[in-house]
Amino acid sequence: IPPERIRGFSIIAHVDHGKSTLADRLLELTGAIAKRDPAATGTDKKEQEQVLDNLAVEKNRGITVKAQTVSLLWKRRGEVYLLNLIDTPGHVDFHYEVARSLAASQNALLLVDATQGVQAQTVANYTLAFDMGLDILPVINKIDLPSAQPEAVADQIDAALVVPFASHEFPHVSAKTGEGVAALLDLIVDRMAPPPEASVAARDAPLRMLLFDSWYNAYKGVICLMAVKTGRVRVGDTVVAHATQHVYTVTEVGILAPAMTPAATLSAGQVGYLCLNMKKKSESVVGDTFYHRARPQPPVQTVTPVKPLVHAGVFPMDPVELPALTDAIESLTVHDPAISVAKETSGTLGQGFRLGFCGNLHMDVFRERLEMEHQMETLITHPTVAYRLLKNDGTVVVTNNPARWPDEAEIASHYAAFEEPFVVATLLSPVTYVGALLSLVGDNRGEHLDTTYLDDHRVMIKARLPLANVLTRFHSDVKARSSGYASFEYTEAGYRRSDLVKVRVLLNGEPVDALSSIHHRSEANAVARAWVQRLKGVIKRQLIDVAIQGQVAGKTVARETVKQVVKDVTQWIYGGDRTRKDKLLAKVKRGKSRMRLFANKIELDPETFRSLISQP
Ligand code: GDP
Ligand code: MG
Repeated sequence: IPPERIRGFSIIAHVDHGKSTLADRLLELTGAIAKRDPAATGTDKKEQEQVLDNLAVEKNRGITVKAQTVSLLWKRRGEVYLLNLIDTPGHVDFHYEVARSLAASQNALLLVDATQGVQAQTVANYTLAFDMGLDILPVINKIDLPSAQPEAVADQIDAALVVPFASHEFPHVSAKTGEGVAALLDLIVDRMAPPPEASVAARDAPLRMLLFDSWYNAYKGVICLMAVKTGRVRVGDTVVAHATQHVYTVTEVGILAPAMTPAATLSAGQVGYLCLNMKKKSESVVGDTFYHRARPQPPVQTVTPVKPLVHAGVFPMDPVELPALTDAIESLTVHDPAISVAKETSGTLGQGFRLGFCGNLHMDVFRERLEMEHQMETLITHPTVAYRLLKNDGTVVVTNNPARWPDEAEIASHYAAFEEPFVVATLLSPVTYVGALLSLVGDNRGEHLDTTYLDDHRVMIKARLPLANVLTRFHSDVKARSSGYASFEYTEAGYRRSDLVKVRVLLNGEPVDALSSIHHRSEANAVARAWVQRLKGVIKRQLIDVAIQGQVAGKTVARETVKQVVKDVTQWIYGGDRTRKDKLLAKVKRGKSRMRLFANKIELDPETFRSLISQP
């Protein structure tokens, strides 16, 4: 296929606006997958699962976590065009996935649900694509629904975003019924530019290709997804990775259609996979440039490592499973370079890891993947942000682990100030809820920055907030205070001074390091009191008296004693999937030593213990 007949695009949208469904329709229409008869699928949910959402966790949650790539062929005026489609996740936690997909495409379809209108992630994803210099085509989806208001939504897009199309030109589609999707494919061919690098001259230039994704395959090792910028690559070539300077022989090249389909070569403008006999995760640096060994080239872009925002300790339920946990983490992080990994030893929990994630959802998804793909039951401590501690001598210490926070005497003699990370949040909401949302911002130590009216009904609010607050309850509070109508998204906005203190929990005078946390002084007393009440509620049936203390900056602010009672066998009652819990209990029985948190002879059943450790 000649270079001028290639089109590369990503699909971006707010979550649930229909990206994966549209990708499926595009695959069907172009014959990449067989068309499924909607009447035959009936109500069987299994059959309606999206083809590109192929991780177990994605099927379970119905969300897209990994960006997926597929090459499609579409005929227009008798000519065959090659379309490289990259389906992206919509959630903020997976922004790095969106960004890396965008780095490999030139165009973006910005999908907007005709019943929901412009939402927070619509704006955030648009901004990301716009800043990366992509051409953006807004597409209005779900026009089959009776409550669809495509014209009103087109006006909102016009008011909120800058796009190179007039609002009456925005294509209207139903990803569900397929209406308008063939016309959309024609529009992609007619209105999108071919990749700038896809020219005959570029094909004859030296090879430069961008690694934008990789995953582990048990038979072939690490599979690398590449966007070829110039030149061509074929089996047997010797290539070099710029960042690592490792040398590889290409053992397979191909395209995803959507299954791995070997090809003879990949040329400038194409997107496809390479097998390089890579064995280790550390070798596949996303954003790295590869070139032929004989013709070294400058990198396509500089690799900026993703900065994790949320940190948590991850420990095996049973200490003997540490090697298995180590393997599982290693294999999952090949697939997800946005997770940072360091070893951690906790006085309470023993040997484990401190992992960094892009957000709470990212962390949840990781935990689910540990369970579903690696059968690893873990203890995950509650998440925390990274704080900056400014010392009197001018040095700065960054810590993401409350257990490492200096004690009060050290603070008094060595530390000048503390800083915590802030974000700028974008809230999209019906006008009615503006008051409620602004008071929520105030309750969370936030600062209102700006309000824009998109039309008579919708408003966009910007506010600065501490990241720590955003990570805990803010999201659910936004939903609660707007009856579910407001959406919210945030971007990092640097560090600011903050009056931070450590909250500790002591059992019979012993601090429990896994339960300590850092808070703003104004919020710390309430946290300490809540911890004491929670522990009092779960520590019930001990053979000795248990004194529970909550401390703020070394001072006890809450105290309770649980009197000794005769041990009973009452089962802790918990919800959720019974078989999973049973498996978990069986595992934990083997690892009784895990209960040494309560080595001071305080015993808890495993599930209570686990939930104590993991809840903020
Ligand atoms: P994504 O999060 O953007 O990938 O969204 P999905 O493709 O997973 O779609 C979210 C939900 O919207 C699913 O239940 C889809 O069946 C539904 N959906 C997607 N497109 C349409 C459409 O055009 N019409 C209707 N009625 N539902 C749609
Ligand atoms: Mg999806």
